[in-house]
Amino acid sequence: MKHGKTELLYLDDSYLREFEAEVLEVQGDGVVLSATAFHPTGGGLVSDTGTMEHSRGVSKVVEAKFVEGGVLHVLEGELPEMGERVKGVLDWERRYRVMRMHTSLHALSAVVSRETGALVTGNQVKPDVSRVDFSLEALDRDLIRRLVDLTNSLLAEGRPVRVSWMPREEAMKLPGITKLADRLPPELPVWRIVEIEGIDLQADGGPHVRNTAEIGRIEIVGFESKGRRNKRVYFTLSD
Ligand SMILES: [Zn+2]
Repeated sequence: MKHGKTELLYLDDSYLREFEAEVLEVQGDGVVLSATAFHPTGGGLVSDTGTMEHSRGVSKVVEAKFVEGGVLHVLEGELPEMGERVKGVLDWERRYRVMRMHTSLHALSAVVSRETGALVTGNQVKPDVSRVDFSLEALDRDLIRRLVDLTNSLLAEGRPVRVSWMPREEAMKLPGITKLADRLPPELPVWRIVEIEGIDLQADGGPHVRNTAEIGRIEIVGFESKGRRNKRVYFTLSD
């Protein structure tokens, strides 16, 4: 699937670390490519970072962003020329952490939703500490511990994570499918569906691990009230 003129390679392969593409536009301090494996800032996920090799050297990719014409890669260093082929390389350590965090967030949200009826009202996925907001009136240490223990035991079972594509009309019929569907606009004719077997099913546009065994354990860093019906939980992964 494309955004503007940019093919989003990570939608079909979250494990793609390197790719080649053509420079379609030079905009300010960045370039729009014909394809990318960099996940841009959006949907609560931080942007991927990495490097871009081109005819004038190697530049740092400090951010990827959705812009009207495609995905803009903001560079530090020399800019490549229009029309040339470049090689993008992801900072894989950072991206893999974000993938593990992202899948764990889906699992935790599904467990919280199932056990308490709460919905996710916001989230921010970063490599070090992530956070998620739930529409909950009451949240205490014992309840969080129970929900996280439950999530961790499910993750440890090594559940497969599957990505598929489904026509919009069909996808809309799946129960709970849009509760986190903030990154695939509903007017798209085909939706990307991410399933954590037996745990969660979501329309989703971000990178995920293939199996929950890759995640390890969620650890709660803290929590706070952000209003009467909104509680924020900060979490990390044990390694
Ligand atoms: Zn997601």
